[in-house]
Amino acid sequence: MIKTDIIIIGAGPVGLFTVFEAGLLKLHCHLIDSLAQPGGQCSEIYPKKPIYDIPGFPSVLAGELIDNLMEQAAPFKPGFTLGEAAVSIDKIDENTFVVTTDKGTKHEAPIVMIAGGLGVFEPRKPPIDNITDFEDKGVEYIIKDPELYRGKRCVIAGGGDSALDWAIHLVENNIASEVSLVHRSASFRGHLDSVQKVIDLADEGKINLITEAEVVGLNGGNKLESVVINHQKDGELVKETDHFIPLFGLKPSLGPIADWGLEIDKSAIKVDTTDYSTNIPGIYAIGDVNTYEGKLKLILCGFHEGTLAVQSAFARIHPEKKNVLKYTTVNGVQGF
Ligand SMILES: Cc1cc2nc3c(=O)[nH]c(=O)nc-3n(C[C@H](O)[C@H](O)[C@H](O)COP(=O)(O)OP(=O)(O)OC[C@H]3O[C@@H](n4cnc5c(N)ncnc54)[C@H](O)[C@@H]3O)c2cc1C
Repeated sequence: MIKTDIIIIGAGPVGLFTVFEAGLLKLHCHLIDSLAQPGGQCSEIYPKKPIYDIPGFPSVLAGELIDNLMEQAAPFKPGFTLGEAAVSIDKIDENTFVVTTDKGTKHEAPIVMIAGGLGVFEPRKPPIDNITDFEDKGVEYIIKDPELYRGKRCVIAGGGDSALDWAIHLVENNIASEVSLVHRSASFRGHLDSVQKVIDLADEGKINLITEAEVVGLNGGNKLESVVINHQKDGELVKETDHFIPLFGLKPSLGPIADWGLEIDKSAIKVDTTDYSTNIPGIYAIGDVNTYEGKLKLILCGFHEGTLAVQSAFARIHPEKKNVLKYTTVNGVQGF
């Protein structure tokens, strides 16, 4: 059981900044995210895009913003459970919640902050009948740890940055023993330099590039043994492999959050704007996941919401203590 003061579900920009604001009040946070890395939409959807409306930054790349937020939160030593989705919140007593993930990891705290953004990102799966039979037996939709592929034969499918970048990474770092990249079109959607790199690696014989083709079948017993590739001109071929990694992007869905007894309005959690509390005392909702009159789904609005929510959380955790607003310029940032 992981114990903390505040469990934050969602390690997007809003969850990360809330760690800092909580830290100033000497409250410790533990973040849970279904993605393998922190940063939410900024890391997953647009890490290389500049953002122009973060106060004090005329322009900052979304990925850089996340790096900065991680650095800002670091003195407060937040805990992380990554690559696991929070599936249930159980109220044990008046001041204790237990949040359990899909992998069974349990977290206990008096406060839960839901910073779940657009919800859990679910992978887009190719329409192959028996694909679920091979999930975690050779089929993965997200690369969490590239070391899983060391010395293995991998077939990656997709035409976006994720497919291109991982194919390059597995080859250039000598991780996989063989990499094939299958894409249904002859052109790619990714960055031009990544496309060129893949073509160069294919010319050098380091990537087996199969375009105008799709993986249409999977074979194996207890684990994946081969994929069936349908080539538009040449027909079907069977390729032996250890892993099939379709990287077709992720689609958001509110997921388990919808089943936690919270008041929901149009796929978002209704909150009281005094402190962004939900209808369940002790549970707050901040950032893109909440809704109220005049709500704007912007990062800076989420920062404000997290800041007010931790003030309210402090009063719940320490009803006997008076919290006086202190400026960081005067008091500095004191870690734990
Ligand atoms: C292309 C694009 C451009 C944008 N440009 C701007 C801009 O210029 N300025 C701006 O202010 N905003 C911009 N936004 C919006 C901004 O990205 C969002 O407002 C911001 O990401 C919200 O942050 P968040 O932390 O609330 O949620 P998210 O960033 O969505 O993070 C939520 C996290 O919660 C996790 N999660 C959800 N449910 C669970 C669960 N049950 N268990 C575990 N984890 C869970 C998700 O995996 C995700 O990582 C843009 C968005 C997009 C898509």
